[in-house]
Amino acid sequence: MSALQILHRDAGSRARAGILRTPHGDIRTPAFIPLATKATVKGLEPREVAALGYDIVLGNTFHLFLEPGAELVERFGGLHDFMGWQQPIITDSGGFQVFSMGHGTVADEIKGRAPSGPDRIGRVLSIEEEGVRFRSYIDGSERFMGPETSMEVQAKLNSDIALVFDECTPFGIDREYTARSTERTHRWLDRCLAWHDEHGPPGQLVYGIVQGGVHEDLRIESAQQIAARPVDGIAIGGSLGADKPQMYEVVGWAISALDDARPRHLLGIGDIDDLVRGVELGVDTFDCAMPTRLGRHGVAIVPDPERRWRVDLTAARHREDEAPIMEGCPCPACGNGHSRGYLRYLLKNRELTGVRLLTLHNLAYVARLMTGLRAAIAGGTLSAHAADLRAGAAP
Ligand SMILES: [Zn+2]
Repeated sequence: MSALQILHRDAGSRARAGILRTPHGDIRTPAFIPLATKATVKGLEPREVAALGYDIVLGNTFHLFLEPGAELVERFGGLHDFMGWQQPIITDSGGFQVFSMGHGTVADEIKGRAPSGPDRIGRVLSIEEEGVRFRSYIDGSERFMGPETSMEVQAKLNSDIALVFDECTPFGIDREYTARSTERTHRWLDRCLAWHDEHGPPGQLVYGIVQGGVHEDLRIESAQQIAARPVDGIAIGGSLGADKPQMYEVVGWAISALDDARPRHLLGIGDIDDLVRGVELGVDTFDCAMPTRLGRHGVAIVPDPERRWRVDLTAARHREDEAPIMEGCPCPACGNGHSRGYLRYLLKNRELTGVRLLTLHNLAYVARLMTGLRAAIAGGTLSAHAADLRAGAAP
């Protein structure tokens, strides 16, 4: 039986709303998942994240594997007890981070990061069928991660949803490499499932990951291969293209080849317009650094499609601005009447309170967006609601 109970379907798209059941509780879908990369949603306490309306966070297998190590987290009773969050946790496989070091540009292209310099410590030493040998960015020590290692780490973290270890190829890579890499990802999937069958924590859900780059036949073949396995859910990963139209096309190909019953996760996507489109395409959960990372850089999310839903509060024009980030926003920053001028002053002076208030506002915005999308699916008004959001309506 699928862990996802679909309660409502949209007549005009593939969107659906429901409940995803996990050992640590239910997740209302479609849902956005904030990143707790290093066992914390940066700057916030678990109760604050829950109060914003989030049911689940994402922990990072690669980073936690290196520091503090899965054994230590296990000694504290698993990631939930270690970080004091008793609701569901999804862990990524570590594949994205491992291969980002090797291919160099995966993270830069997919996540919009500046390229790492040549002096970085962490780097890939070899990519083989067994797995990947690499140097830790923490201390330069040689480490290994393969399908079994990734599943073992995620078992020790005792996450509710584990993602299988995959090779994440960058956008620029050729079709032949993408094809070979995607086949290896499928073989690694079988090894992950075999390990999990024998050693996985009870109730932990396992998601396969669709690869295949931007090639229609490879994406569909990969989706069919993953769907043919006894996975609990399916994630869509890898390079999704050069621009938004291509990303929507690639995600659409993958989903067209999947069965309807199992939950679908879209990896690393979280812009406001992408969340709206992703829901229409039939995605159930999303994770992305966007709301929290923007907050740390002084950028707030606002209903302004012309400026990609962003306003840079560090800009000089906000110096004497007495308005809140957003009128009518119930978040701790706007709801308590903090002005843009005050927030700009805090951010310019690197006061932690400024970063915290912006993180709270951004996560509150995305939480309300998802609540509104769920309500619109349930109420049969998604098409009109999505059009309003794209035109700049507040969530
Ligand atoms: Zn606000």
